[in-house]
Amino acid sequence: MNYQSMGSESLTQVRDELADAYQQLLAAGLSLDITRGKPSPEQLDLSNDLLSLPGEHYLDSRGTDTRNYGGDLGLPDLRAIFAEIVNVATDNIIAAGNASLELMHDATIFSLLHGTPDSLDPWAHQGTIKFLCPAPGYDRHFALTESLGIEMITVPMLPNGPDVDACAELVASDPAIKGMWAVPTYSNPTGVTFDLDVTTRLMSMPAAAPDFRIYWDNAYVVHTLVDEAPTPHPVLEIAAKAGHPNRPYVFASTSKITFAGAGVSFFASSTENIDWYRRHSSVKWIGPDKVNHLRHVQFFGDAEGVRAHMARHRELLAPKFRLVNEIFTDRLADSKVASWTDPEGGYFVSLDVIDGTAKRVVELAKQAGIALTAAGSTFPYLRDPYDRNIRIAPTMPSIDELRVAIDGVATCVLLAAADKLLAAQK
Ligand code: PMP
Repeated sequence: MNYQSMGSESLTQVRDELADAYQQLLAAGLSLDITRGKPSPEQLDLSNDLLSLPGEHYLDSRGTDTRNYGGDLGLPDLRAIFAEIVNVATDNIIAAGNASLELMHDATIFSLLHGTPDSLDPWAHQGTIKFLCPAPGYDRHFALTESLGIEMITVPMLPNGPDVDACAELVASDPAIKGMWAVPTYSNPTGVTFDLDVTTRLMSMPAAAPDFRIYWDNAYVVHTLVDEAPTPHPVLEIAAKAGHPNRPYVFASTSKITFAGAGVSFFASSTENIDWYRRHSSVKWIGPDKVNHLRHVQFFGDAEGVRAHMARHRELLAPKFRLVNEIFTDRLADSKVASWTDPEGGYFVSLDVIDGTAKRVVELAKQAGIALTAAGSTFPYLRDPYDRNIRIAPTMPSIDELRVAIDGVATCVLLAAADKLLAAQK
């Protein structure tokens, strides 16, 4: 029944029943964690062949000995596979270390200390630097910019991508806005995929800063839960056509394809940006782990091999996402105190509870032994202006654990809502 239209007597009764259910939850002594988007052990097992590769076959197809130094762009065969995956030319992508987040950090540090090819001065000499942050968004993006003293401006996330009108207005008028975070496919945590119109407008909009960059983090480019992942828009081409060839930095990695801690990351951009990245990264390392690159080439074969591998992930993940949607629908739909996403890909379900209750829900769940990502994490400075959004990460626990955890979360959502609505009626 719709809680919002209930009188205080029936709502009190519902509240008391929920309090009993919550006591039972406490008594169950759970210890469950749905905080981070980690692959489950079964997903990691899908890539176990990597553990015995490359064996004695450590020469690549050109005869390069991958055990030695050299080749700072990464192994050409792996670059070719992921160029196809992110829809760029092979010359415009490099294969790097094990974490795309590190590449994003590098790009920002290099800009602050040295400036980009389009900067008049290093960003650090230009006073306040700002980034646009579509929210709900990825907490580690926000942590990165916050840690480097970059001011974050929240822009709303809409069903087809960030609110471009808002972005265009801000970027056109404020030269301190140097960057923007974007997760164009199956966004973290909303599951939103940017459509072509949003993409084109983001790449074309006039910017007051000549060195404005969009961090196009395509972390979930092949992570579909339906038959086919959307084809990524050719952003480098779109940006070049619009006269802003250096605007997009494309990032991707195999963190949630093979091993989360031992995969390969990728950076794709204009030739000028790639040369800039090479120049500055050459002082911090002699080159990436090509043995790891080679074992990934041998494991996948080609881009189709990556997609076939993702279909196996999907078999493991789709039932978990289905279960979350079933439980939330069953427990929460009638009460009208929450809405949630049923994503077609990515790693998260984004749950919106009634305003002013997200923190309480997370706290109630914590008391009951269910760890949720801290409320507010999906917004810059951990500040959700409505105290509404909670990110659910269903990938890591087993189906049985997930069932118990999500059912428990639903109880917490309902209890917090009933309390809030009763308090408002007083
Ligand atoms: N970007 C997004 C949007 C993510 O969700 C994640 C992982 N949670 C990452 C980047 C991290 O990627 P990597 O392991 O390559 O640093």
